[in-house]
Amino acid sequence: MYTFTLPSGQEIELVELTGREEELLTNQRLIKSGEAINQVLLNCIKRIGENKSPKLDDVLNLLSGDRLFILVKLRQISLGDTVELELICPACKQTGFISVNLEDLAVTPYSTEREFTFKLPGSKKQIKFGYLNGHKEKQLVLLKEPSLTSAMLARIISVDGKPPNKKVITELPMRDRSELRREMLKVDAGIDTEVEVICQWCGSRLKTRLEAEPNFLFPNMS
Ligand SMILES: [Zn+2]
Repeated sequence: MYTFTLPSGQEIELVELTGREEELLTNQRLIKSGEAINQVLLNCIKRIGENKSPKLDDVLNLLSGDRLFILVKLRQISLGDTVELELICPACKQTGFISVNLEDLAVTPYSTEREFTFKLPGSKKQIKFGYLNGHKEKQLVLLKEPSLTSAMLARIISVDGKPPNKKVITELPMRDRSELRREMLKVDAGIDTEVEVICQWCGSRLKTRLEAEPNFLFPNMS
């Protein structure tokens, strides 16, 4: 059993990934619906704080930064700290290889606040927003056409004290939307899995997220 402290401050106990989880993570249908990750988290989390038998609802209640942190830790305890990435440059199509040590990823702790208030500079509307968690991620995955608006909407609790809707958020001035996104980003926490490298062949900037790379969970498949 492995013990970690989540970005939210809760302590957690994990067991390593087995063939059961590998089967889940290679099932395209379960990956697409987001069920694979939730089932893997449910299988491998043995304790959240005082809760010694976490249920699916407890897994979905975890903040998104905590969930990604757990995924990275599961990778580390199961397959080691080093991820070898094979990145194809979108500009020159050449392949570059880089190695990332997961232990070096920056972790930003969540503050104790869970709700934030922000007055939009243009429309002067008062926005209350929170964090993404597993429940909200699930809703976003189910959307047929994910958009910037739905991603913002998932974090908004109220607009001028009323429940938010898509129309209100879509009709906000672009400046308000941009400021709101910046405000949301400012309080965000979790683990930074973004990797940015310069292509050694053409000098283009390559950006990826570790968890989106096949080698993150399946290092010997290619
Ligand atoms: Zn290139």
